[in-house]
Amino acid sequence: MGMFSFVRLHQIVCPKCGVRSDHEVQFYFGGCDLETLEVGDKITWNRHDRGEPGHRLVVTDGWGGDCPGCGGPYAPPPICDPGQFDVFIEDDVITHVQWATGEFDYERDAHPDPNSEYILLDDYPPSVKAFLNNARDNRS
Ligand SMILES: [Zn+2]
Repeated sequence: MGMFSFVRLHQIVCPKCGVRSDHEVQFYFGGCDLETLEVGDKITWNRHDRGEPGHRLVVTDGWGGDCPGCGGPYAPPPICDPGQFDVFIEDDVITHVQWATGEFDYERDAHPDPNSEYILLDDYPPSVKAFLNNARDNRS
């Protein structure tokens, strides 16, 4: 009960001040067995499930720390909490985690589910798509 998973972020760059920092972000989708995952890892199911398997692309809210350089790129609230993150999960793989931009309003748009706040997406927002394309180009 009341469980979650972690996703560990290494030296992510703040889009506002450029400071790099590490974070452990709690999120509430999938097996939620207190496991620590990385971006690129597959989430588990059949433990303390929150949300629902089988969705192609979802974004769910996560909670971590604010940016040590500026207090959070999109702070202050109420735009969004400085420690809130958007966690993108495609085919059960964590593809991207970023400080919540306020683009996704979980209170308004989340899939009705008492245990998890997540929004079903048809596609990534353009900024995330650009980031993912960039990362792919840098690998090849
Ligand atoms: Zn910052």
